[in-house]
Amino acid sequence: MTFTSMNPHRPADVVATAEETDVGSVDRAVKVAGPAADVWWHQPVAARSAALRGIGDTLRDRLEELAQLTTREIGKPITEARGEVVRAISIFHYYAQMLLGPDGESYPASLPGAWLLVRRFPIGVCGLVTPWNFPVAIPAWKLAPAIAYGNAVLLKPAPPATQTALLLGEIVNAHVPGDLVQVLPGGGPTGEALVGHRGVGAISFTGSAAVGRMVAPAVVSRGGKVQCEMGGQNASLVLADADLDRAVQAISFAAMGYAGQKCTATSRVIVEAPVYDEFRSLLVDAVEAMQVRDPSRDECQVGPLIDEASRDRALRAIAASGGDVLTGGAAMEGDGFYLQPTLVEVRDGEDILAQEEVFAPVTALMRADSADAAVDIANDVRYGLSAAIFTSDLGGTIRLGDRLEAGLVRVNAPTAGVDFHVPFGGLKDSSLGSREQGLAARDFYSETRTIMIAG
Ligand code: NAD
Repeated sequence: MTFTSMNPHRPADVVATAEETDVGSVDRAVKVAGPAADVWWHQPVAARSAALRGIGDTLRDRLEELAQLTTREIGKPITEARGEVVRAISIFHYYAQMLLGPDGESYPASLPGAWLLVRRFPIGVCGLVTPWNFPVAIPAWKLAPAIAYGNAVLLKPAPPATQTALLLGEIVNAHVPGDLVQVLPGGGPTGEALVGHRGVGAISFTGSAAVGRMVAPAVVSRGGKVQCEMGGQNASLVLADADLDRAVQAISFAAMGYAGQKCTATSRVIVEAPVYDEFRSLLVDAVEAMQVRDPSRDECQVGPLIDEASRDRALRAIAASGGDVLTGGAAMEGDGFYLQPTLVEVRDGEDILAQEEVFAPVTALMRADSADAAVDIANDVRYGLSAAIFTSDLGGTIRLGDRLEAGLVRVNAPTAGVDFHVPFGGLKDSSLGSREQGLAARDFYSETRTIMIAG
């Protein structure tokens, strides 16, 4: 069965037509990936390091091509698409070095004269199931550590980002042996076949909570290793002592940039009562000044939504909210799937816009009577990915920051924005299993064996 991906700015522009990878093809891919991993793992470590460095270098050479394709296929503002490729370059270069680091530990043995060692080994075949919204960086931050530590990879990208994944796969494959990295285009059924395959030792999933909650038990029930990074309902807290100009700049971008389609986007802005009216007015002005444009133009900050269904879902959520729309609230004229950046003043934390992940340029504004009340409101959701506090009080930051239920706590900085070399992941329904990136990725993509040599 074939499927297509299309340009969300100009839907008549079909970007990819691909064949859905069926169960039999997934099985064949797994069977050839196993031996490829074995050969790869036994190559000299310097060769593996050089391959990763080479991938980073080729990404740098083809940066503009990959960024333009990303923008065309998923509607990401071009400046952000370029930034995403730059991040992927850094990720491959980082793991090219990381894999040369210590790969084990040595302990004193109980038996006199014996050696007691802990050594790392690859898992074998890893399945990566990825979302469409970061079609370069997310596959990169899974793929680079997976191959760095000696595994083969089967990448199942989200259908709207198929062509971008195929180009990334082509770039990677120019540097690694055949069958080591395979891209398997397809939707849910292809993902299910990969997730359920007993030959796939580990699954790293990023996507919605609804799908992640099905993926995790499917892997665990067959004895596989799994990590899931899922949705968010991220809060930005503006305290009475905050630098309001700085806060409004960071928050308007985190909420509306890339049409709110980041897992770390700000979905709720919680403002302490003494500065609430002033901040509301500043935020409305900033949101109305956001540049909603063709994403291929450098000045674009807010592009289209990924598809018609996503825009309809966002409009239904706005309609279901009991709040007052302060700005925006409607679809925009034209063929593309544009939605006006929308700020809604909600009455309470139970409002749909304060609870659900809308994944659109739609943000709830709420008042809190105190800084502690702001934290309570921020925590009163099922998600726990990212949270930001805007304040000038260091002592308060430490106390309140520790109370925030979020995997990323950011002070005087947007909720969106991730460093590639530190652990990344959320709490509560945002995450299942171990963290991604940095040293945490080494732990996920390898297994230790404890070896005693009695001599
Ligand atoms: P999605 O859950 O619809 O799809 C994610 C991937 O899962 C896709 O490749 C999809 O084809 C596949 N899939 C669908 N059904 C499957 C099944 N039954 N078995 C196996 N695989 C299946 O998510 P999306 O719309 O592509 O991406 C948006 C979501 O991703 C948002 O919820 C967003 O918050 C989340 N996200 C999270 C992070 C993070 O790191 N926490 C990062 C980016 C996006």
